[in-house]
Amino acid sequence: MSEKRLGIELAVLDDLKHRVVEVGRELFENKLVVSTFGVVSVRIPGTDHVLITPSGFSKARLDKDNLIIVDLEANLLEGKFRPSVETPMHTHIHKRRPDLGAVIHTHSPMACAFAAANMEIPCVSAEQAFYLGGRIPVVRKYSLPGTTSLAELENIVKALESINAVLLRKHGVVVVGKTPEEALDTAIVVEDAATIALRSIVLSKPIEFTRQELKYLKQFKETRYGQKPETT
Ligand SMILES: [Zn+2]
Repeated sequence: MSEKRLGIELAVLDDLKHRVVEVGRELFENKLVVSTFGVVSVRIPGTDHVLITPSGFSKARLDKDNLIIVDLEANLLEGKFRPSVETPMHTHIHKRRPDLGAVIHTHSPMACAFAAANMEIPCVSAEQAFYLGGRIPVVRKYSLPGTTSLAELENIVKALESINAVLLRKHGVVVVGKTPEEALDTAIVVEDAATIALRSIVLSKPIEFTRQELKYLKQFKETRYGQKPETT
């Protein structure tokens, strides 16, 4: 019989840890996080446990042994270090959205400029229209990093109902995905889209994608983009 810890197959846990470390490194290399900022968390499949990055560690120097396991109430279950200060935000999203697998928080600079200005990111680039399907909103009534206010955490969940990326006022970005790799891709797209939007606003008055165009792109993505699953 395969070995388990906290009800989780060790091989599954080891694979997830490896992927969280890799995604953390890619966040750092893509300059979406600097210094010790940013958080990666993954719901461990089939459990109410969340694997999350530790507080105060650079994502460039993460190691599988540094990662922490918490429950959905943000209680520490396993780990040598303190979990991220944003753990309550992550566990609340995981608790409310069991359909998701991963949550990433970044301080990517162009998106943060919009968050600082309390402005949603207008949908003026093909990647934003295609990948996110519209404007990236600012969470209403969010105050400070590390908040444990249930009302504020619930506002983040609400904002994530219609899109996989949201801005935290004067702070950063939260993206979600089915896997840590999917959430990473979204974080990369958010920063690219924010860069294009900001530059386009400097150059002119950009025209956003219309609702009809967004509908067309959604259909295009669902029916014609990427590879079909193997049928043979
Ligand atoms: Zn932050």
